[in-house]
Amino acid sequence: MTKTEARSKHSSHAEFIDRIRYELSGIESEGLTKPERVISSHQGPEVIVDGEAALNFCANNYLGLAGDPRVAQAAIEAIEERGSGLASVRFICGTLDLHKRLERATADWLGYDDAILFAAAFDANGGVFEPLLGAQDAIVSDSLNHASIIDGVRLSKAKRYRFANADMVDLEAQLKAAREDGARTVLIATDGVFSMDGIIAPLDEIAALGERYGALVMVDDCHATGLIGPGGRGSGPFKGVGDKIDILTGTYGKALGGAMGGFICAAQPVIDLLRQRARPYLFSNALAPAVCGSALKAIEIAASDEGDALRSQLAENAAHFRGAMDREGFELLGADHAIVPVLLGDAAQAQRMAARLVENGIFVTGFSFPVVPRGQARIRVQLSAAHTPGQIDQAVAAFVEARAALA
Ligand SMILES: *Cc1c(COP(=O)(O)O)cnc(C)c1O
Repeated sequence: MTKTEARSKHSSHAEFIDRIRYELSGIESEGLTKPERVISSHQGPEVIVDGEAALNFCANNYLGLAGDPRVAQAAIEAIEERGSGLASVRFICGTLDLHKRLERATADWLGYDDAILFAAAFDANGGVFEPLLGAQDAIVSDSLNHASIIDGVRLSKAKRYRFANADMVDLEAQLKAAREDGARTVLIATDGVFSMDGIIAPLDEIAALGERYGALVMVDDCHATGLIGPGGRGSGPFKGVGDKIDILTGTYGKALGGAMGGFICAAQPVIDLLRQRARPYLFSNALAPAVCGSALKAIEIAASDEGDALRSQLAENAAHFRGAMDREGFELLGADHAIVPVLLGDAAQAQRMAARLVENGIFVTGFSFPVVPRGQARIRVQLSAAHTPGQIDQAVAAFVEARAALA
């Protein structure tokens, strides 16, 4: 008897498990099951996935720092010097010198008074709205914002307004509505980069509308920090409005070493209040020393001349892939970013094509509902500064082969 069978002697448990199985079979029959593929190597352009060597084109490893031995070594040193973890939240006995250093390095680099760390950017977005905005306030949120912003907005008591993705006419209409409804503080919330589409938010126009309607701007720059804009400082600086972004959230789990951990940057009193009230900060364990060590090293590299060289290489690699795929007649989304989504439409087709590519040694993932709208399934290719031109050509050739094989 399995453990589940033993428990299922209670009929309520058996009914519950049946319902869950039914839901799973629905996902399966729609072709929407997301498989997990197992990597048994370092993360990087070349990985061992499900036991086979493959070129990796689906990591958020934009600068190649996730596999960088210097970043790994910094994590090892942090463990040697401060151990594996704190067994405490920050305010009880969980604050290390390393946390303070990482907050300072993040804030100084990105141009803010201070930063506050979270276990993940998901938590940063989950914790940022509720303490800062009350029922008298309004959040005007882009319709394609990341799930963690949507959840964070739900947790706050602020009145919600939604504008169509990057649509400035709609944003203005929603800002007007928020003002007419008498909102005290109005906050525009947007991803800096929409990762499913590979587009950068029009933050220059958003900031201008923010100014016109007296609204603050919050940007989640998870797919931008380290790789976009002057010095890798993100999508605000890329659009020339870095100083108009009031609240910035980001991750150490993508370009900045790829371990994990999130942050919020803002004016000092905002960070001070978040330290007192942000629930994922108050009620969750302090970041592990290894994560602080690797993130500090990754910021040091990203903010340096070497970071500039990595960003040029990344831009070159993205242009190489985009140009070659375009010439082969694939329908591509996005612009100005290392995310190049290849639009396929049908979810099952995207899944089959991704599977074929993986069989042929190109590791990519098909994205379908609910991650993207129904009927707009795609394979999202992500370039890294660590890819070679030869590897990029191999990926393009594999796309051409898979299209022919599945036609
Ligand atoms: C990846 C991502 C997150 C979540 O980051 P984690 O640090 O992995 O929790 C949040 N927002 C956006 C826009 C992201 O792309």
